[in-house]
Amino acid sequence: MKITYSIIAPIYNEFDNLPELYRRVKEVMDSSGEPWELILVDDGSTDGSTDGIRELARQDKTVRPVIFARNFGHQVAITAGWDYARGDAVVIIDADLQDPPEVILELANKWKEGYEVVYAVRGEREGESWFKLWTASLFYRIIYRITDVKIPVDTGDFRLMDRKVVDVLKQMKERHRFPRGMSAWVGFRQIGVTYKRAARVAGVTKYPFKKMLRLAINAITGFSYFPLQVATYFGFISAGVAIFAIPVVAALRLAGSHFFEGQTTTLISVLFLGGVQLISLGILGEYIGRLYDEAKGRPLYIVREAPED
Ligand code: UDP
Ligand code: MG
Repeated sequence: MKITYSIIAPIYNEFDNLPELYRRVKEVMDSSGEPWELILVDDGSTDGSTDGIRELARQDKTVRPVIFARNFGHQVAITAGWDYARGDAVVIIDADLQDPPEVILELANKWKEGYEVVYAVRGEREGESWFKLWTASLFYRIIYRITDVKIPVDTGDFRLMDRKVVDVLKQMKERHRFPRGMSAWVGFRQIGVTYKRAARVAGVTKYPFKKMLRLAINAITGFSYFPLQVATYFGFISAGVAIFAIPVVAALRLAGSHFFEGQTTTLISVLFLGGVQLISLGILGEYIGRLYDEAKGRPLYIVREAPED
């Protein structure tokens, strides 16, 4: 049977959210009157979600389980969803119901108008700490400024994409992934739909600060050379300062001034430049590490159980 909508939900320890996720997606998608499938990607859950997914798939053939051999991360789980999706339109949704399934119909309406990427913009957000809101907002704005692709602000992975777009994304095999950047990069006709992001139904966030930071670094390194250029800017600035400062200091000394005498000035400049150099080296390391990962060419994810059909 030809499938119109593929809904992809990455699952990492979301056992308590599974029944509600399934119920609401089913209700909404059945009301669309078109054939759909729900791809549940189990990203190495340890709380029984895996069995929960198997059970749903046993009861209802519209649920297709993809079960990873271990935790590969949210972005990779989304990628696996793209690989298994068969629909003409592919929707990515969070399993914790922060992205209300009802919004899918609004996204679908825009798709029917001819848009190929319909991304959901977070207008309001409920039930999240000020720290999360503030860091998220800062993150979107920094990414917008320094990356070469214009990635829409306040937009997560919740979006609908046409089959054409997904087929292009499937060819992008980069390891350190930032799906919302990738889907902005491909072009096509894109539009945003504003929605109210709900609070989590059950459980806690699977994005501790460390993972958020990783995602931010992946986003920046994946779509911009800016951090590498910072070293060049610093180099020009300190070289510029040196060109002016050296004659001034030399002249002062020749004139008998003792203003720049002693270890303090030396220490300050050595420590400062040492710091700048080490940070630049670290940034270089981030890019080289990524190159190395790409060169190894390992599979992006390992599937323990794939859908039967
Ligand atoms: N997730 C995942 N693998 C991970 C972390 C998260 O598949 O390593 C899933 C998680 O189950 C959820 C979605 O990614 O469906 C978003 O995660 P979460 O709600 O914890 O992020 P937040 O909304 O707090 O940013
Ligand atoms: Mg969430």
